[in-house]
Amino acid sequence: MKFNYTCSDCGQRYPIQPELTVCPSCREKQIPDQPLQGVLEVKLDGEADRNFEISDLLPVPPQFFPSIPVGGTPLWQPLNLRRDLGFENLYIKDDGLNPTCSLKDRASYLVSAFAAQHGINEIVLASTGNAGSSMAGIGAAAGQKVTLFLPATAPEAKLVQALQYGATVHRVDGSYDLAYDLALTYCQRFGGMSRSTAYNPMTLEGKKTVSLEIFQQLMGAPDFVFVSTGDGCILSGVYKGFRDLHHLGLIDEIPSVVSVQAAGSDALYRAHQSGLFEARATQTIADSICVDVPRNGRHALNQLRSYGGRIITVTDSEIMTAQSRLSRSTGLFSEPAGATAFAGLLKIKAELPPSARIVILVTGNGLKDIATASRGITVPERTIQNLNDIN
Ligand SMILES: *Cc1c(COP(=O)(O)O)cnc(C)c1O
Repeated sequence: MKFNYTCSDCGQRYPIQPELTVCPSCREKQIPDQPLQGVLEVKLDGEADRNFEISDLLPVPPQFFPSIPVGGTPLWQPLNLRRDLGFENLYIKDDGLNPTCSLKDRASYLVSAFAAQHGINEIVLASTGNAGSSMAGIGAAAGQKVTLFLPATAPEAKLVQALQYGATVHRVDGSYDLAYDLALTYCQRFGGMSRSTAYNPMTLEGKKTVSLEIFQQLMGAPDFVFVSTGDGCILSGVYKGFRDLHHLGLIDEIPSVVSVQAAGSDALYRAHQSGLFEARATQTIADSICVDVPRNGRHALNQLRSYGGRIITVTDSEIMTAQSRLSRSTGLFSEPAGATAFAGLLKIKAELPPSARIVILVTGNGLKDIATASRGITVPERTIQNLNDIN
């Protein structure tokens, strides 16, 4: 298999090298507070049959992979939900079961391998929380230094996780968007490989493995995949996996992807309607998808348009309802952003055929943000010492 970079805006091809983060000619057109111009994609050329190894379709050789088991998460059949919702072919892909408990590990894994391949020992990024705790954990497995810019508002568990893994954490008094800019400036000044989302093509490429696995687990493509969306990098990664499979002749059609945003952070949704990205201060309980400027927005929007995908929004209260319904009917406790995809399914379920093969991508574990989850439950106030006290 041969690999190179192709600019998703102008189509220019480049050899894969760590110095290239976005297309050098398209970056000239970058406007502040707008999604990235010139996002680079990995293009593959070659052949593969249905029994491919996932590593065959990745642009970094396996000897550089860190020694930590990322991916290979279960795709399972939630029987209660199937019965309650009337979808006989409903599946959950639980990516909260990755080593640091979110889908972000797929990107961190490939970035770590890419850095190792090129002898780079420091990885720098901004994160709303999960990308940072993920890179910290995967970097620890690889023996790499991780420098993280994290908004001070990030859920405590994600901060503690990153520090436990030994990352250097700069807490940012401001939004994720400020953290993103600081991380890029740090890299330009002090070096290191950037892993900020979409700014390193390996983030998108690493996330594609979730679609390759779904294909292998289902022995074919699903009809619908529900994906929660902030920056739009997971969305593009999901598409990239299916596009690679299509390119290799292993599937006939790209599945319908349904992108689900929080109503309080819906920049991609609004751009899909209007054609324009308008930066707006955002707020949602789903911290992992709370972004003012979706960094991978242009790329994600192009994918949605090219492949007839759909984008919808759900309110915070719909997200909380979905979170507890998922917990109570399946035993899967997901963080709010992880349950957002499911909230999307609940919202448009009447429009889908009962026999459709539907995959809900659950992107993060519930223990990452117990403060928000606590708002959806009632903790008993009274403590007891004796069974006679129960009534
Ligand atoms: C990062 C993240 C998302 C959204 O991914 P984007 O690439 O920003 O759209 C969704 N859910 C969880 C749990 C995440 O950590």
